[in-house]
Amino acid sequence: MDFAENLNSIRQRIAAACARVGRDQHSVMLLAVSKSHPPETLQAAAACGQIFFGENKVQEAKAKIPLCPGKLRWHFIGHLQSNKVRDAVELFELIQGVDSLAIAREISKRAEQAGKTMPILLEVNVAGEGSKFGYAPEKLLAELNELNALPKIEIHGLMAIPPYSPAAEKSRPYFQKLRELKIQAEQVLGAPLPHLSMGMSGDFEIAIEEGATIVRVGTALFGPRVNPIRQTGE
Ligand SMILES: *Cc1c(COP(=O)(O)O)cnc(C)c1O
Repeated sequence: MDFAENLNSIRQRIAAACARVGRDQHSVMLLAVSKSHPPETLQAAAACGQIFFGENKVQEAKAKIPLCPGKLRWHFIGHLQSNKVRDAVELFELIQGVDSLAIAREISKRAEQAGKTMPILLEVNVAGEGSKFGYAPEKLLAELNELNALPKIEIHGLMAIPPYSPAAEKSRPYFQKLRELKIQAEQVLGAPLPHLSMGMSGDFEIAIEEGATIVRVGTALFGPRVNPIRQTGE
């Protein structure tokens, strides 16, 4: 695994995808998904100039972040349990994957105690999969004003994880769906939402063509995850 080489190649592919649809390459943030990888790997990644990292377990992040360079910036991309919210608010600058009023209320409450406002993305279950977390689109639109009224969260956009397929094109309709939902959400809120977090190692170029502003890339940067089996459950 040569991180520098992988990073270069991903950056080039991001730029090419942007060029295909007339977007500025700087309109896409590359979030390096570092879950399961040790601090030494992240230090090497930081030395190559990667700044934004995504973690999906609060406990793992809590142990790892203090061992990483202080300039790194962290997004939470997992499913958040209410007993982990306090730590998450402290550790992360964006919580992606908020999917209920209950968890949003808890984030707002803990952010208030910490004297800050917490940016969040709302997770959408774009394919209606029973096995996945995330808002059903209608429910999200119905609860949006109530979510937005919470004093210490700021809704910055939407995120989704479409059903896995080895064929990247299969993700495209789900990315389009998320983009359309963002437009509907903006109409409800009467305000723009800056972010669409969509696209992973296998399909980030398609996501960019469909408007992604954050792509979450793990395997294509770091290689296979260490001990993936232990990634289930918190
Ligand atoms: C693990 C993970 C990723 C990265 O997946 P890769 O296929 O390794 O790029 C992206 N998003 C979320 C929410 C994840 O949990």
